[in-house]
Amino acid sequence: MRIAIVSDIHSNFDALEAVAADFHGVDQIWCLGDVVGYGPEPGACVEWVRKNAAECIAGNHDWAAIRKVSVRDFNDVAATAALWTGSRLSDADTAYLESLPSTREIDCLPGSEAIRRGVTLAHGSPRDPIWEYLVNARLAGANFPHFPGDLCFVGHSHQPVAFSLDHSRPGGPEPTRPRVEPARFDRPVEIGSARHIVNAGSVGQPRDGDPAARYVILDTDARSWEWRRVEYDIGAVQTKIRAVGLPDILWMRLAYGR
Ligand code: ZN
Repeated sequence: MRIAIVSDIHSNFDALEAVAADFHGVDQIWCLGDVVGYGPEPGACVEWVRKNAAECIAGNHDWAAIRKVSVRDFNDVAATAALWTGSRLSDADTAYLESLPSTREIDCLPGSEAIRRGVTLAHGSPRDPIWEYLVNARLAGANFPHFPGDLCFVGHSHQPVAFSLDHSRPGGPEPTRPRVEPARFDRPVEIGSARHIVNAGSVGQPRDGDPAARYVILDTDARSWEWRRVEYDIGAVQTKIRAVGLPDILWMRLAYGR
């Protein structure tokens, strides 16, 4: 079974459409939250996710837009975008975002015995799914006891990276500090005997210096995942952001991937 995992779409429908056009032979789509916030087309993105994603969890921007969490911890730009986003959502969009769970444990993948003990989805981290940023090995290591299986997929930091903890080495102390594996885009990464927290990167607002949209393909039969990068028409979405009057930084940063 092949699953496309998208995260941090951030109301960037141009990037989402480009990513979706890159899906080949995908059986399911999972979304890791932050469908909205920052970008110009929140409604189109929510509708797409509602229609296409078999699983979706909430991100901080999704719940800020509908006032389910406070924007108090947001910077001015993010708060402005959240308030604007809320004003653009239909009742159905709002109800959908309201209904999203903060984590999902997917126990059994049809057609696959290969992923033991299921897959966990969390926007930020398994122990603090809405808010925690897994930006280093120490924070990631502290999260491994908080999910049961071999795999946890996260977003939120917009950094495509994996934290991997290998328990297979005989003898020696139980490792607690995971290896940090930056994303590679040339071939799939084997799950192997390790446990992993995998950040899918961001579809709609990449922040690792490469402006291309990112997502992940999980192949449960091959026991591997693959980060994908997809070029899209950044100019088109920049024009839309300017037209709706969101802060300039939100269109400028897309060109730099920061
Ligand atoms: Zn985000």
